[in-house]
Parts: sequence; C-alpha cells; structure tokens
Amino acid sequence: MHASSEDLQHLVDVIAASVAIVELKQLKGKKKQFRVVAHNDRFLRMLGKDKNQATSTIIKPCLLDSLTSDLVLQVFSTYLPQVFATLEPIEIEQKLALSSESPWWRLFLNPMDNEPNLPPRVMIIGIHITDKHELHNEVMDASDNARLSSVIDAAFDGIITMDAQQNIQLFNNAAEKIFGYSADEILGQSITRLMKEKFRANHGNYIKQFADSDIQSRDMISRVMILAVKKDGSEFPVEITISKISINGKKEFTAIIRDVSNRIAFIEKLQHKLNTDNLTGLNNRNYFDGQLVEISQQYKRFGHTFCVLMFDLDKFKMVNDTYGHPIGDKVLQEFAKKTKQVIREVDILARFGGEEFIALLPNTRLKAAKEVANRIRQRISQQIVLSQDHEPVTFTVSIGVAEFSPHDDTESIIKRADDALYRAKNSGRNRVSD
Ligand code: GH3
Ligand code: MG
Ligand code: MG
Repeated sequence: MHASSEDLQHLVDVIAASVAIVELKQLKGKKKQFRVVAHNDRFLRMLGKDKNQATSTIIKPCLLDSLTSDLVLQVFSTYLPQVFATLEPIEIEQKLALSSESPWWRLFLNPMDNEPNLPPRVMIIGIHITDKHELHNEVMDASDNARLSSVIDAAFDGIITMDAQQNIQLFNNAAEKIFGYSADEILGQSITRLMKEKFRANHGNYIKQFADSDIQSRDMISRVMILAVKKDGSEFPVEITISKISINGKKEFTAIIRDVSNRIAFIEKLQHKLNTDNLTGLNNRNYFDGQLVEISQQYKRFGHTFCVLMFDLDKFKMVNDTYGHPIGDKVLQEFAKKTKQVIREVDILARFGGEEFIALLPNTRLKAAKEVANRIRQRISQQIVLSQDHEPVTFTVSIGVAEFSPHDDTESIIKRADDALYRAKNSGRNRVSD
C-alpha cells in the first residue's frame, strides 16, 4: 500500500529542498494527468507561487497544472512522462523564471518504489543553483572578456555596443580614432550623438523595428550610406553593420563602423574620370548620354522642353594639317573654355568625340537656343590660339539645334540636331541651323 498523503507530507516538510511527490493518473479516454500528492513550501516557491498562498498545511492532493504556470508545466510535461515510462531517474538544470527564490534549479525526478496496481509515483526534488550559475557565468565572462577586449581593442573597425535605450556601453580604440571622442567621454551617452541631425529623429523607430524583427543581423551598407559626425562636428560617410544579441533576455546592439571616406573619395574620383574628357575637362559622351536619358524622362513627365545643340569645328583637319596636332588640341581646349563661358551653369556641355561637341539646354525653347548657339558661334569666330610660330590661328564652328518634342526619344533628338548640323555645314559653315 502507498504511504498516505499525510505521512508523505511530514516527510517532505522536513527536507531542506523543494520536494513534491507526483502520481500519474490516467482516466479512461482522458489524457495523462500529474497529481501532486504532497509538496512542501519550497516547492511552491520554486514554481513561483506567492508565499502567502503557500502553506505547509496543504495536504489535499491537487493537479500539477493547478500549481504552476504553463511555462513551468511545459518543463515537467517534457520530462515527467519519460520518468514514468522508463522508471529511470532524470536530473536536469532548468531556469524557472517565475521562481521567487532563484531562477536556476537542478531538478531530480526520481521514480519511487512503485507498487503493483497502484498509480506510479515520482519524487521531484529541486535544489537552487543560481549561485553556481552566476559563478560559472562570471568565470566565463572573465576569460571571454580578456580575450574579447583585446580583439575589440585591436580591431580596425569601430565597435560600439548599445543597450536597449541606445546608450553606448562599449567604445573601442578604433571608434575613438574614428569619432574623436574618448571612451570616457561618450560611454553612457546616446548613440544619436554620433549621427548627423537629420538621421536622429528616425533612429528610434528604425532600432525598434530592428529590435522587434527576427533578422539577426541587418546589413545597412546596401540601404543607406549614413553620415556620421565627429566630435569636431565634421561629417563623414560610414558603413554600418548592426547586429543584435540577447543577453539574459535583454537586447543589446553592436555596431561595426567603418570610415569609408577614403573609399567614397576614390569612387568619386573614379566616377569623375569616367565622366570627364581628359583633353578639355568637359563632361564626356558617357556622362551626356546618362543626363539625356534622365532629363528626357523628367521632361516627358512634366511637359517641359529642352534643346540640344550639336557642334562640329569647321575644316578642323586643316588646322591639324597646317599647325600640327598639338595646336589642334589647343583649339579644342579653347573652344571648350569659351563655350562654357557663354552657356548657363545648368546647361550641360560635353565633348561628343573628336572635334564634335554637344550641349543640352534645359527649359529652353528653339528660338532662345538658336540665339545661344549664335552667340557661341560668334564668340568662337573671334577667338585665336597661337601657333608654335606665334601666328594667330582662327577657327569656326557649325551648330545644329533641335528642340525636344513629346514624340522624341534620346536617339531621335540627337539625330535631329545632327541633321541640323549637316544643314549648317552645307550652307557654308560657321552657321547655326535648326
Ligand atoms: P568639317 O568642316 O566638314 O567638319 O571638316 P573637318 O576637317 O572638321 O572634318 P573631318 O571629320 O574630316 O576632320 C575632323 C578632324 O578632327 C580629323 C581628326 O584628326 C581631328 N581630330 C579628332 N580628334 C582630335 C583631337 O583630339 N585632337 C586633334 N588635334 N585633332 C582631332
Ligand atoms: Mg566631325
Ligand atoms: Mg569638323
């Protein structure tokens, strides 16, 4: 015969650990239930029951479900069935978050001497091990920290960690160099101090979204090039990789920051080279083509217009043949310089190739564009460069003008300007034609 609940209760009351004795009950057609036939106060406190509710006089057997939350129950329903099935003891280390005594417990689930024809029983013993756990974590932290901090300090990239409120918790050597703040100055301050003002307002939202999302690491490089601010107020582009980690349930953020000023400067230089004509310093055809696509789309949408001017120096072969190629080059340079002086800042002038140039005049009707073209033509005809023998070399230009119409595309507008240029050449050169 099983020991009575009362006997058991006396037994568990004197044990200096959390103890409960559980029976497995299965009524026909119903799911298995765990019935607690005895437990002590400590057991209730382990499950997070308020002390007031816990009294050592509870003797009445009750269901395990009624004593604890779903979460803790889940722990027991994972292991108890196994113990009942195998009658082998199980020992687990488990965090019981609701426990009023300690979060970490070692649980022993021991099958008792079961008697035939009676429901089997298991004794649950819980010993709190939080101290041991904390000690373990501290030891781990200490050795990890030593290694980590040397890695962090030696890192080439800036490493900054923030707590959930976005206050800076760690600021490594590289971050000090990048931003010009010492760690002492910046620790505890909001990360937004390091951002350009216009990025600050939205930062909170962004981080909240990021914190709540399931994405572990979001690469911000591809999204925006963030402008950061140094202590001295100067702005510089940075590439940020942000990741979040969860430490003891608290979210922390780590940002790896790389100053990309050099890279950006390099890319800009490259971009400039790609878009610039070496001889004249004007934009090249590559740049012009891009602008033409963009502006024609824009103008189609808004119903504005623009004009294209196509230039070709007259009898330029003769200049080369008479004075030599370097003097020809000087003429091309002079043409670029003087033409630029006639047109507006918003107009785009490019070397189209050889001794051909092209210009795009935004918001300009045909009549006005022809006037501009004529001014250029006149100005160029008055220009001289000196030959190697210091003789004055004169030159002229023919110009074709076309106005963009809604039926045009980038090819057709250039073709019409080219046709106009052909007419200018045919009608005697040093002319403007449309
Ligand atoms: P047209 O009035 O019909 O335009 O006669 P043109 O002589 O200007 O025409 P053509 O196309 O026969 O000659 C263009 C010349 O421009 C030939 C080429 O050697 C010269 N040229 C093209 N690029 C350069 C350059 O970068 N530097 C110099 N010096 N000459 C160039
Ligand atoms: Mg030509
Ligand atoms: Mg020519």
